[in-house]
Amino acid sequence: MKPAHYVNGVFSTTEATFPLLSPVDGSQVGVVPEASRDVVDAAVRAARAALDGPWGRTSVEERCAFLRRIADGIEARFDEFVAAEVADTGKPRDLAATVDIPRAIGNFRAYADLSYGRPERAYPTTVPGWSGSGQALNYTVRRPLGVVAIISPWNLPLLLLTWKVAPALAAGNAVVAKPSEETPSTATLLAEVIGEAGLPDGAFNLVHGHGAGAAGEYLTSHPGVDAIAFTGASATGAAIMRNAAEHVTPVSFELGGKNPALVFADADLAEAVEGTVRSSFTHSGQICLCTERVYVQRPVFDEFVRALAERARALTDYGPMISAEHRDKVLSYYRLAVEEGATVLAGGGVPTFGDARDGGFYVEPTVLTGLPQSARTVREEIFGPVCHVAPFDDEDEAIRLANDSPYGLAATVWTTDLSRAHRVAPRVEAGIVWVNCWNLRDLRTPFGGVKASGIGREGGEYSLDFFSEPVNVCVKI
Ligand code: NAD
Repeated sequence: MKPAHYVNGVFSTTEATFPLLSPVDGSQVGVVPEASRDVVDAAVRAARAALDGPWGRTSVEERCAFLRRIADGIEARFDEFVAAEVADTGKPRDLAATVDIPRAIGNFRAYADLSYGRPERAYPTTVPGWSGSGQALNYTVRRPLGVVAIISPWNLPLLLLTWKVAPALAAGNAVVAKPSEETPSTATLLAEVIGEAGLPDGAFNLVHGHGAGAAGEYLTSHPGVDAIAFTGASATGAAIMRNAAEHVTPVSFELGGKNPALVFADADLAEAVEGTVRSSFTHSGQICLCTERVYVQRPVFDEFVRALAERARALTDYGPMISAEHRDKVLSYYRLAVEEGATVLAGGGVPTFGDARDGGFYVEPTVLTGLPQSARTVREEIFGPVCHVAPFDDEDEAIRLANDSPYGLAATVWTTDLSRAHRVAPRVEAGIVWVNCWNLRDLRTPFGGVKASGIGREGGEYSLDFFSEPVNVCVKI
């Protein structure tokens, strides 16, 4: 499978291309077409035509049936999807086979379940009219927004793309998607599956290419786009918002994080250590929900730090950073941490494997201590396998430290005190607070961040709300 654009039901490439590199050993594994402005225009036109054609006349039940066929189609080619995701990202096969691809299938099934049998989400109400004007019946129907641009990142390529594509299609929109330039393969496979599922031409379109000054920017500043759903870095979100402002295009943003973990002295320490190993080092820290700041209550600080560092040093089966550029960024933070006065308790450099991986983009899982809250290492998103651990004395201080960040995506709280868990969780400025767990997801719950971590919520009804427009119909009785 070669990465290709998919516009109006037809696969195509462009003369302009760029190389696709394996993060595992740095070798070139493919060539990706770079969409020109014309390709993006054609995709937006095809999406608009689909809304005016058969796709625009589908019932929600028909759309749910398409979603189920897409889910079945991914499932039927499961191994191919897993292999493509592993090839693009270098992530352990197990991660792709247990998280990325099953969740992509789950995204389509969840939105088929949530939308089925609820064509208009009507809420009839009877209200008194103005004096002398009689009674009226008000009801609200939901209409699709129209042409939706979906821009996704490289860390969970198919999972995060389908997280938006599924509800957008369920709600009746036509989609133009642009996956990350680093990970074009599973998106191309998805287009194949969507074609095989029989979705009307133009309902789903895919363009490949870079972001700034390229396909991403052409798409998000396009006057024919009615809404933008974006997952990626906060700085990119700001750039997209500036372009979206021109046409007052609505946005839904899932952005970066600098997620805290709060470990109280009453926590099950072994569980908190294991949980933090997962939350800091899964996918080598390249998940927006990963923990990069750990705050531990002073009586258990030394024991926690010792155990965490030991576990980090023992990790062997981990994947690379997505690119040489991203590896260099993470390593620059490892150096900065030392310059800022950190103690490096585990990692801090580049591992040596003695095989082809030495040509890849690996960094060591890293545990740091000793930095002030004001250090850049503690404030800026690194997006690598690294966390900084600092002590706190009481609940108020823990909450103050957790909230002292420009970001507010996710947090974890480790405690066996039930009252404390309920007291602390709502005071943390984050869209999601996990208690004694991490990344336990129910797709119906709201997902998103506060502050620089995002705008709006997706998940369940929240996604269907974003991807549709309420229209109130008032009938005089
Ligand atoms: P990125 O912002 O660099 O790129 C994301 C996408 O945006 C890519 O498809 C890219 O081509 C496109 N893009 C870049 N500049 C653009 C522009 N000016 N206009 C339009 N499109 C543009 O992010 P990334 O490096 O791919 O992903 C890592 C970031 O994503 C991290 O900050 C991480 O926290 C965040 N993230 C957030 C969530 C979440 O749910 N909140 C999930 C995953 C990743």
